[in-house]
Amino acid sequence: MPKKRDGGLNFSRVHINARLVLFTLTAAIGCGQPGSPAPGIEMGHLAERWYAGGPQCVGPHAFLVSSYNADLYILRQPACTNFEKPFLYLIFGRKDALLLDSGAGNVDVVTPVDTLIRAWARANGVTDITLIVAHSHGHGDHVAGDSLFRLRPGTIVVDRDTASVRTFFGIRNWPVDTATFDLGGRVLDILPIPGHQAASIAVYDRRTGILLTGDTFYPGRLYVRDTADFARSIERLAHFSRSHPVSHLLGAHVEQTTTPFKDYPMGTKDQPEEHGLDLTRAQLLELDSAVRAMRGRFTRTALRDLTIWPMP
Ligand SMILES: [Zn+2]
Ligand SMILES: [Zn+2]
Repeated sequence: MPKKRDGGLNFSRVHINARLVLFTLTAAIGCGQPGSPAPGIEMGHLAERWYAGGPQCVGPHAFLVSSYNADLYILRQPACTNFEKPFLYLIFGRKDALLLDSGAGNVDVVTPVDTLIRAWARANGVTDITLIVAHSHGHGDHVAGDSLFRLRPGTIVVDRDTASVRTFFGIRNWPVDTATFDLGGRVLDILPIPGHQAASIAVYDRRTGILLTGDTFYPGRLYVRDTADFARSIERLAHFSRSHPVSHLLGAHVEQTTTPFKDYPMGTKDQPEEHGLDLTRAQLLELDSAVRAMRGRFTRTALRDLTIWPMP
């Protein structure tokens, strides 16, 4: 797939049909075969590899974009633009699209999102869809593209602070209440999960069963700022997963290698042997058990696919 060196997918030399472009990418990097879904859960394909680096950073400088299905897209920031190389999620309802996180900056994030929205709108005969940019949490590597999106017409950017998140999603009793947010025929559950950061939320998509967990739960170093909040948040996530079918738990980074218990050193850009993006409910329950066993006295602890990393 041809790409510009200066950021942004070059759609001018390929069909603008996003599904075609995304199929090409998915085929190039491998595609997981989902098992039988729970009743009512919409299936999709999750790429097995998200390699976004290159030894001399000669890899693509544009977002990697993959289609989970026709109404949900995953974008990964290229490693050479920021070592955090976070994941962003774009979910379509009939009237609104939600972009969870806006990236770590130093890259054109609007063009790939805009291109996906145009293609989706055309394919679905929709002329007017509002883009809502919200965040898994307020850290800089997830909000840096906000200023670009504020210039985009038809876009609402939710501020990063807890009060704004709470107000926007209508969460009355933070952090114990769960709110629902309807994108138009597509209901999301919004769960406050402070601990890594005060304004952290998880987003559950009832249509696909995907639970987005930001920096709170992903294959890598789970930095814990507030241990008591974190323990309660993991407990709430585990509890939520008992009553809701979860197809994938998807976070905002990958820092783990394919070798059990081993992560890439902090700041690594090139991660050719990195762990897959998704975790499962089993790993969430394992984390919950490990956190409970600490009884409030957190120590740095490596589990098979992630590390609990309390911050001083
Ligand atoms: Zn963070
Ligand atoms: Zn992060």
